Amino acid sequence: MESTSTTQGFCGTIGNTPLIRLDTLSDATGCEILGKAEFLNPGGSVKDRAALAIIEDAERAGALRPGGVVVEGTAGNTGIGLALVANAKGYRSIIVVPETQSPEKFELLRAIGAEVRAVAPAPYSEPGNYNHVARRIAEETPGGFWANQFDNVANRNMHYRTTGPEIWAQTGGRVTAFVAAVGTGGTLAGVSRYLKEKNAAVRTVCADPFGASMWSWIKKGNLDDDEGDSVTEGIGQGRITKNFEGAPIDDAYRIGDEVILELNHYLVKREGLLLGSSSAINVCGALKLARERGPGQVIVTVLCDGGGRYLSRLYNPAWLAEKKLTPKGLSLDELLARL
Ligand code: PMP
Repeated sequence: MESTSTTQGFCGTIGNTPLIRLDTLSDATGCEILGKAEFLNPGGSVKDRAALAIIEDAERAGALRPGGVVVEGTAGNTGIGLALVANAKGYRSIIVVPETQSPEKFELLRAIGAEVRAVAPAPYSEPGNYNHVARRIAEETPGGFWANQFDNVANRNMHYRTTGPEIWAQTGGRVTAFVAAVGTGGTLAGVSRYLKEKNAAVRTVCADPFGASMWSWIKKGNLDDDEGDSVTEGIGQGRITKNFEGAPIDDAYRIGDEVILELNHYLVKREGLLLGSSSAINVCGALKLARERGPGQVIVTVLCDGGGRYLSRLYNPAWLAEKKLTPKGLSLDELLARL
């Protein structure tokens, strides 16, 4: 997508996000630590890209026709992106969200006119899982189209076509590493494939929360080690999605909630960036990579969504205290030592 002074509607505003140099982190590590500002997309998250790609792919394939209904199961951000793209293109949307997700995301979805169905959390293996509920609703709704973000590779192809090339251009081809957490895996898989095609030496790393299996998959070749739990939202995958399948990933880090929350609060106070927890785990991964591989790296990561979506949680002292995750205000040295 080309940058112009005016954009074509909502959809034309998706992508071409700035790459922000995180100054204090870069100066302290001797690396360039750069955050792709996906929270500046018009729907407020990295998922706007997948939403646009999935809907336009379905239009081309004839799976979504005028008067159609976009249906999806989502932790929230994909639903917000899909509902807004649907509005801009004249479709309705039905969004199925596990009731554990932040109240702000539910309010946003309702405010933008999505029909929201909250469901009790259930593992993927059970019919009550939000993805299966969404598929069934799409099948039963006249004109229904199931977006299927986890296994619809229009998602990773969009990152291969847009996010990857933007990062390559914005770093003048100097990028040496890319780090991201996995939800659907579309971002990490699509960007990694593109960057490695441009330069096979680019190091690609997954930053995984506890309770997910991607770390286990990349380090041990199985999905068995998913110990622990995490308050992060939008990430934490337990299976190999079609989007993640075959992704060229070199390494994985498992990062705990305490250090993620510390970093969220550090990023607000020291970098002026109010972000969600997946952005913070990504920056933790970038910092760990900087520490491991030493100065001189150009490390790109993703700032997935803004912290306004999590005011009642990540930035609410009572919630933090209840979860025993109140940040201690650690210095950068102390933070680095805990990664
Ligand atoms: N962060 C947030 C806040 C998200 O909503 C998502 C998508 N579920 C991700 C990260 C992960 O992106 P992807 O689906 O491309 O792996």
